[in-house]
Amino acid sequence: MPERSALRFTVLGTVQGVGFRPYVHRLATGLGLDGWVANTGGHVEGAVAGRSDAVARFGRRLGADAPVLARVRQVLLSAASTHPPAPGSGFAVRPSSPGLNGTAAREIPPDAATCADCLQELFNPGNRRYRYPFINCTNCGPRATVIEDLPYDRAHTTMRDFRLCPACADEYRDPADRRFHAEPLACPSCGPQLSWNGLEAEAALGAAVTVIRRGGIVAVKGLGGYQLVCDATDQACVTELRRRKRRPSKPFAVMAQDVAAARQLASVWKTERRLLDSPVRPVVLLHARVPSPIAPAVHPGTHRVGLFLPTTGLHHLLLHDLARPLVVTSGNIADEPIATDDAEARLQLDGIADGFLIHDRPIRARYDDSVVQAVGRTVITVRRARGLAPAPMPLPRPATIPLVAVGAQLKHTFA
Ligand SMILES: [Zn+2]
Ligand SMILES: [Zn+2]
Repeated sequence: MPERSALRFTVLGTVQGVGFRPYVHRLATGLGLDGWVANTGGHVEGAVAGRSDAVARFGRRLGADAPVLARVRQVLLSAASTHPPAPGSGFAVRPSSPGLNGTAAREIPPDAATCADCLQELFNPGNRRYRYPFINCTNCGPRATVIEDLPYDRAHTTMRDFRLCPACADEYRDPADRRFHAEPLACPSCGPQLSWNGLEAEAALGAAVTVIRRGGIVAVKGLGGYQLVCDATDQACVTELRRRKRRPSKPFAVMAQDVAAARQLASVWKTERRLLDSPVRPVVLLHARVPSPIAPAVHPGTHRVGLFLPTTGLHHLLLHDLARPLVVTSGNIADEPIATDDAEARLQLDGIADGFLIHDRPIRARYDDSVVQAVGRTVITVRRARGLAPAPMPLPRPATIPLVAVGAQLKHTFA
């Protein structure tokens, strides 16, 4: 009989809400190991047992090929001398536990833009999530804007009131499914729904699309707050948005359907393309084409235009159905914070928006869009928000004294 050994592991970093437990499950079962994995406090813990060579390989690979959204800071391994997993007991994702109040940072992952697999499903008429705006999986979707606490479980997110339907529950429990333990998992029959003045789902989206197509301004409830959306090619409409929002000249960000559409509006070099297409989906400051289909009122007095690609299923649907670049800007007046509460948004945006495209999931945390600029291959972060925050920024070298960093003038950042 081959020699058997066991290993305990703890993984620190941004490892919850990024598909890490499913990844460990695949790694362990692929090597034929018994054991378990769980979210504990702010990190991931577990144990494996099996053939010594397979256990050793597990220890070497753990964290090395982690999911794209994970940020592994440390992997701690030790021999599992007490209660090693029994032979043939299989591998399980155990219920989360609050853990001890250790010193390890509790890292809540930022939101991630709709991944390529979900995008393919979103526009596949045969898929049960066809045109479902809240589509997500373990590799994409809302995180910081829905998580209320760690350990990362549905019960600790704003999705807890949406009870999984049988089909979603099957996906959630199936280790082979790409939505295995995807906590914000949702579908048209059990997840959040769009609404617009008494209309629901497709009818609500259709009403918003019609208003925008006719030159109107729509308030859209996004992930991290309300946004104001209108046709970026319509000079009269953008001018009216400036008047109503009391924002005379500061440029508006423009959302384009994909990289090809962005290239019609601005020159996009290699680094900029990577930024546009990344899960962060920041607003990227680019040199606008001359002439450009974008209305001059979008970025008056500057050749720079801030472009970004759709961040959620809802934005993909809006861009697809309208087939034109859209101004997507924070839903507020002048320097007020972006609105997140439904009643507050109605009050604040009543005189600005011609209609409200909303949904029934509360917004846990306020997030504006991130803004970046590439200078050659160097990336300058102008505003660190959705998609980047609240992920910690590692210091280039350890601090020898306790430090506090506070910035910036209008958007607060504390470290
Ligand atoms: Zn996805
Ligand atoms: Zn469902």
